[in-house]
Amino acid sequence: MSYKVRETGLRNPRGARQRPGPERGVEAPKSTGAAAAAAGEKRGKNMLQVSHVTKKYGKVVACDDLSFHLDPGSVTVLLGPNGAGKSTIMKSIIGFLRYEGDIKVAGFENKTREARRVMGYIPELPSLYPNLTVSEHMEFLARAYRLSDYKDRVKELFRRFELEDKVKKFGDELSKGMQQKLNICLGLLPQPQLLLMDEPMIGLDPHAIKELKQCFEDMRQDGRTLLVSTHIIDSVDMLWDRTIIMQQGRIRANVTRQELEEDGRTLEELFFDVTEGVERGDMQHTEAPGEDGKA
Ligand code: ADP
Repeated sequence: MSYKVRETGLRNPRGARQRPGPERGVEAPKSTGAAAAAAGEKRGKNMLQVSHVTKKYGKVVACDDLSFHLDPGSVTVLLGPNGAGKSTIMKSIIGFLRYEGDIKVAGFENKTREARRVMGYIPELPSLYPNLTVSEHMEFLARAYRLSDYKDRVKELFRRFELEDKVKKFGDELSKGMQQKLNICLGLLPQPQLLLMDEPMIGLDPHAIKELKQCFEDMRQDGRTLLVSTHIIDSVDMLWDRTIIMQQGRIRANVTRQELEEDGRTLEELFFDVTEGVERGDMQHTEAPGEDGKA
């Protein structure tokens, strides 16, 4: 492949804050990560188990004793107003932050190599290389993750997110919406077993939002596990299995779709009830005890 590389070239892209692998939270896998996930499942673990996680920034308690789990093959929405602690718990799970408590991914401590092989992360703010084109970003990521047979998938992602006519544009030539589309394509390319997406809808046009929702469904059908954060309730009128509502660093509700249907409230009604003070005991967060007996 010949690269359209500006200035310093693909080997050491200028402006790279971090290499794409660690930045996106996934270690270059020797396999797809499915083996590690399957191993975790065999050991009877949840895909993700967060137990008593507290993160403080100085005196600000961004996450206050959070405990929850994700079942394999499920879509969970992390809903909450700005400043609720959604990004902080995601960054803690992916291993970017220090925190108190315990996080396990497919049964492995989250900062271990085994856990990193299973996880992927789409950050809220795209972090692109100004001197790589759109297609070179995908190529670079594919090489970092040692992916094989990825070219058709890249084409498919570009088609779905309408980037086909932008493949030769450099990272800093893209509009904000296009940057976000590329950010999402980069996160989807390695097909991790557990994908964390931080506010992925922000800046997307309606077509891209529709495609992204279809991707959620495809991943779910494929048995992959998703955790999607958002502060916009309307953006999650999609197939979700569980919603966790956060506010001021705490979990205010943790419900399955079925529990909410049985309760009779819409997601919007539940959100405003729990964040604006009308609380019912049956929707309060009650995490089942974890295997360590702590959660
Ligand atoms: P959300 O993603 O729900 O909007 P965040 O996790 O970004 O919330 O923030 C939770 C709280 O932690 C907020 O009060 C925010 O101001 C604070 N916070 C987040 N990041 C930092 C940081 N790097 N330094 C200090 N405070 C932070």
